[in-house]
Amino acid sequence: MSELPSTRQDLILSWLAESASLSIDELVSRLGVSIMTVHRDLDQLVKAGQVEKVHGGVIRAESRPRNNRAMQRCYLCDSPISERTQVIIQPAQGDPIYACCPHCGLLLLADSIQPISILAKEFIYGRMVNARTAAYLVNSDITLCCQPSYLCFASTQDAIKFQKGFSGQIMTFDEARLALTAEHQCMGDVDHH
Ligand SMILES: [Zn+2]
Ligand SMILES: [Zn+2]
Repeated sequence: MSELPSTRQDLILSWLAESASLSIDELVSRLGVSIMTVHRDLDQLVKAGQVEKVHGGVIRAESRPRNNRAMQRCYLCDSPISERTQVIIQPAQGDPIYACCPHCGLLLLADSIQPISILAKEFIYGRMVNARTAAYLVNSDITLCCQPSYLCFASTQDAIKFQKGFSGQIMTFDEARLALTAEHQCMGDVDHH
C-alpha cells in the first residue's frame, strides 16, 4: 500500500481503540506492509508513548503501568509476572492489575473488581487475548505457575489440541472462575507457590 507512515500509525491507533491488543501478524495483513514496516511504525508509536509492544503484538499504552514491568509482581500471590501466562485486569478506575497466571487472575475477579478489560496471554502464540472469551485447560500436566495449573487458549480448539497431549479439563471463563472459587472455599487460603 502507498499509505504514509502517519496514516498507518493513525490506523493502528484507531484499531487499538476498538480492541485492546493486536498481533503483529494481524497488522501485517491489515496494512499490507512488511513486518519490518509494522515494527518501525510501532517503534514510533512506542516512542510517542501511545502504544506498548508485547510479545508478538501491541497494546494500548494506558493498559500498562508506567513503572518498569520487570518489577511487576502478581497482585494476588506476589510472584514475579511470567511473560507466558500473565493476566492484565484493567479496572474502571486506576492502574491495571497484574496477575501471574489465569489461576490468580480469575481469583482476583472473585473480588469485587469491575474490570473494563481482562487480557490473558494465550499459551500457543503468546498473544494477549480477551480472557472472557478464552478457553482454559485446567489441571493439565503443564505447570508453569500456580497449581492447579490454568492455561489460557484463544479457542476451545486450541485447548483440545493441548488436552490430547497433556490431559486436563477444558473450561470456559465462567466455569474456570467457578471452579477456582469452589476450590478456595474448601481449601482455605492456599499457598500457590
Ligand atoms: Zn499469582
Ligand atoms: Zn500464577
